[in-house]
Amino acid sequence: MKYIDEYRDASNARRIADEIRRVTTGPHAIMEVCGGQTHAIVKFGIDELLPPAIELIHGPGCPVCVTPVELIDKAIAIARQPDAVFCSFGDMLRVPGSRDDLFRAKASGADVRIVYSPLDALNLAKNNPGKQVVFFAVGFETTAPANALAVFQAHQSNIENFSILCSHVLVPPAMEAILSSPDCRVNGFLAAGHVCTIMGYTEYEPLAKKYNVPIVVTGFEPLDILHGVLLCVRQLEEGRAEVENQYARSVSREGNRHAQRLIETVYQIAPRGWRGIGTIARSGLALRPPFDRYDAERRFDVSEIVAHESEDCISGLVLRGVKKPRECPAFGTRCTPDHPLGAPMVSGEGACAAYYRYKQSEPAVLAGPCA
Ligand code: SF4
Repeated sequence: MKYIDEYRDASNARRIADEIRRVTTGPHAIMEVCGGQTHAIVKFGIDELLPPAIELIHGPGCPVCVTPVELIDKAIAIARQPDAVFCSFGDMLRVPGSRDDLFRAKASGADVRIVYSPLDALNLAKNNPGKQVVFFAVGFETTAPANALAVFQAHQSNIENFSILCSHVLVPPAMEAILSSPDCRVNGFLAAGHVCTIMGYTEYEPLAKKYNVPIVVTGFEPLDILHGVLLCVRQLEEGRAEVENQYARSVSREGNRHAQRLIETVYQIAPRGWRGIGTIARSGLALRPPFDRYDAERRFDVSEIVAHESEDCISGLVLRGVKKPRECPAFGTRCTPDHPLGAPMVSGEGACAAYYRYKQSEPAVLAGPCA
């Protein structure tokens, strides 16, 4: 696997882990923001390579997990409208709403379809003029440009039977919400490399300064994550709090200006509810005029829906890094991937799913010899 094995090499992993041990006096709690990094950490046993003085805390970076229950309920209500075709990525179908999920809505006759891109949904609208096609636009800054492009193209082609249910969330305001919370234990962050590929990392610089916390832009392979931890620990040990870029092969300080312009053209900053966490000011994207005519919440009458979150699920505490999945009383008993109580047990990036999948068995072995 050219270009993958290099980042999973066991002897290099051991070398970086040794260096982390050498420089650590600690204790340090480092939060990885992205659920993709959480899965890599648990899958490859990276947390077990680190000295006890370093704790990795899992953050809120799973867009499926943070989509509020209310929007799942609205998605189900829209999917059940006559002539509606509701399109979504597969992960969202099994995320529990107040009473139902999209999968059960589909089983009971709603036209719910799994697509692989928002442009698939737009094409479906073009080919089915008698249907109202809705795309569930979920994700962080990473998916926003592609979803913005679909809306932009619909607007340019004057396609009237396409809309999006918008649930975009932004990473820096979530990090600030965590840092300003009284129960915050985070000393340093591994920022999500793919988000920074789009947005760059200038937004993180004021956060690092204001909260005196190092932020290391980090990739997703095991060596990326170990290297990110090393850079973060070095800063903590030296009393520095800067933004550093471990993922320079993909990320520049300014990011992708074309993608940013597309986001700015189609969306505006808005408050956004986060599942289990609550509303965070300026933490989401909403369609701006004239593109707001593609807002599914305006097109369908779903404003009266009142959601109820499961009282058994502590996903808010898990997503803020206050608790680990195993500390949830329902983990692995009343909550499993087959019968999830909360989104983190369903999503391919959810922390509870990662623990359920990998923490019950031996971690995957990094490539090459490892003592
Ligand atoms: S184990 Fe299940 S119930 Fe507990 S926090 Fe995770 S998703 Fe929620």
